Amino acid sequence: MKKVHIKSFGCQMNVYDGQRMADILSHQGYEETATPEGADLILLNTCHIRDRAVQKVYTELGKLRDIKKAQGAEGQETKIVVAGCVAQAEGGEIQRRQPAVDLVVGPQAYHRLPELLAEAGKRRVVDTDLPIEDKFGFLPAPKRQAILARGVSAFVTVQEGCDKFCAFCVVPYTRGAEFSRPVAQIMAEVERLAEAGVRDVTLIGQNVNAYHGEGPDGAVWSLARLMHRVAAVPGIARIRYTTSHPRDMDSDLIAAHRDLPQVMPFLHLPVQAGSDRILAAMNRKHTGDEYRRLIERIREARPDIALSSDFIVGFPGETDADFEETIRLVDEIGFASSYSFNYSPRPGTPAAELTAQVPRELMNERLYRLQARIEHHRQAFNAAMVGRTVDVLLERAGRYPGQLAGKSPYLQAVQIESETNQIGDIVRVMIERTSTNSLFGRLVEPGDASGKGLAA
Ligand code: SAM
Ligand code: SF4
Repeated sequence: MKKVHIKSFGCQMNVYDGQRMADILSHQGYEETATPEGADLILLNTCHIRDRAVQKVYTELGKLRDIKKAQGAEGQETKIVVAGCVAQAEGGEIQRRQPAVDLVVGPQAYHRLPELLAEAGKRRVVDTDLPIEDKFGFLPAPKRQAILARGVSAFVTVQEGCDKFCAFCVVPYTRGAEFSRPVAQIMAEVERLAEAGVRDVTLIGQNVNAYHGEGPDGAVWSLARLMHRVAAVPGIARIRYTTSHPRDMDSDLIAAHRDLPQVMPFLHLPVQAGSDRILAAMNRKHTGDEYRRLIERIREARPDIALSSDFIVGFPGETDADFEETIRLVDEIGFASSYSFNYSPRPGTPAAELTAQVPRELMNERLYRLQARIEHHRQAFNAAMVGRTVDVLLERAGRYPGQLAGKSPYLQAVQIESETNQIGDIVRVMIERTSTNSLFGRLVEPGDASGKGLAA
């Protein structure tokens, strides 16, 4: 069999796309390998969200060119493919900067990989069309073995693209306009995953709660309605969804957190900043107080919900007073975790044209302070778990023999000692202590009767 090495950068959508590309290539006689050395095909699935992510791709390509050259000297042909959002945004420029690249393929064109690879054998190929056609209809289903190898938690893309046009963001340009997959197609994928032993699905999309797919009844279904259907699939014990926009958190979706036990009490709901002036300049279309009221409504529906957010520091024109508003919001909400980034100007976005760029040193200072507050709240959230009993989905072997690692309902990593339980079981665990990144606990009850672990 030929070997393919796939390396995905960036968001969960790229992880999902990387798996779909592996599925396509497995039907072309490729098996996955963990290292680029020895691979016949090396595929970088790239991220364009910040400049640093793009620079990483070019550094990586330099290393891959050397591997391709060394393997060529030994008589092994190696193809290099660049996929994902850098491929979409930079197109043929990638091959000008790194001539060792054989194929550049955008996120809406990768279902054509077999034909494109055949062509790439004869000439350099670039396919960055954003076609209206539904690529999902052309993707082969994963083989059962591939599902098992990926574990008991899986991503399912339900929506792609974005029409929100936040002033800093490249996604509407690299992923294209909003598109929702039809309900029947999503359900077929979820059922197949569940039959193979998957217990935890995360429904993903750049703007997942804007989901408006065609239902089997011909009507337009919301994300809440879709989640009710997913919750009814035997074996699926946990549902999450990401990433959501505050403007699209409708009442039905909030109610699903109250009504569906399978919907986990964790929500990633990026606010980006605390200052209304900056939120308006970002084109976020919500204020800090609107976000606070929304969180109150979500907490009324599900009082124990763990919240997380993304923050951008140093958006053009951000003053000290604006930044203090971000700190105030972080301290008021008390997020269980969050991602935070320095603003990175992206070519082609409206914010890149703004002149009042914040000096790098000031940005770094603010980011440092923000991250310290975020970390304080994360540790407090984790420390409050000690003494509580929670359901843990066992996902893999732990670091040491006899240890198993899993996830709490709040998306925390949990380690337990157990010789008898198996991966895929949901067990009751009393949390005894925390470390920087994990909780440690003791089993109080054996696995659930419905558990159909992957080892079974
Ligand atoms: N759709 C999601 C939302 O509305 O929040 C986010 C998608 S984006 C892929 C993930 C995160 O990257 C954003 O929430 C934002 O914090 C960050 N991001 C996007 N563009 C950025 C930029 N130009 N500079 C720094 N961070 C950026
Ligand atoms: Fe980017 Fe999210 Fe804004 Fe869409 S909603 S433009 S993906 S940050």
